Amino acid sequence: MGRKFFVGGNWKMNGSKDEIKKIVDTLNAASLNDNTDIVVSPPACYLEYTKGLASQKIHTAGQNSYKVAKGAFTGDLSPQMLLDCGADWVILGHSERRNVFGEDDQLIAEKVSYALECGMSVIACIGEKLEEREAGKTEEVVFKQIEAIAAKVTNWDKVVVAYEPVWAIGTGKTATPQQAQEVHAQLRKWLKEKVSEAVANSTRIVYGGSVTGGNCRELAQSPDIDGFLVGGASLKPEFIEIINAKA
Ligand code: PEP
Repeated sequence: MGRKFFVGGNWKMNGSKDEIKKIVDTLNAASLNDNTDIVVSPPACYLEYTKGLASQKIHTAGQNSYKVAKGAFTGDLSPQMLLDCGADWVILGHSERRNVFGEDDQLIAEKVSYALECGMSVIACIGEKLEEREAGKTEEVVFKQIEAIAAKVTNWDKVVVAYEPVWAIGTGKTATPQQAQEVHAQLRKWLKEKVSEAVANSTRIVYGGSVTGGNCRELAQSPDIDGFLVGGASLKPEFIEIINAKA
């Protein structure tokens, strides 16, 4: 069976109730490809609001979750809390969590493991920095990141891997379809060798980094690109074109 196309919208720390209503109304009114899994990720305080507005085909995701259910962890959220607010997905290991908030591979892997244990689906993000790419270390970096996550995952059914080169996030500098396909193919090969052929064949590997309505269709043609994680453009009407990139 083919891998279902997946498009996630990471709204990051953006939006207000008014803005979210406009975005969701636009999505609800659009013709959205039934063959695409659609997930939007508002700031956690707007999860329930977004879920209440969105049509059934639009799922919601938290942008982060911690590795335990509750306790003295000021400012953090557990998977249980996200589920309670209607989110069935969570984004973990985003480059902003890694590079702005200092999360390391080990913590991210523990968070992935716990969110899965709680029944959530996980968008697990990995990707190299510009200097790492320029030093020819892209594979080394993404293999190390996925290895940490894979060590804690026993069931891959609810994992989407997002390859997001850091140099392409929010910069307007998209990876070419060739650059993205090359890394996606390497990641799939890694999954085949280190996990199993079945997991390699069924796990969606999506691309993130300045995806727009203008470049999504060409990227979506690549055999190992199974969808997108979208930041900036997910706040705009062009998100619809990205959802429908494979239509
Ligand atoms: C992201 O934040 O995951 C992302 C890919 O952002 P952008 O699309 O804005 O580059």
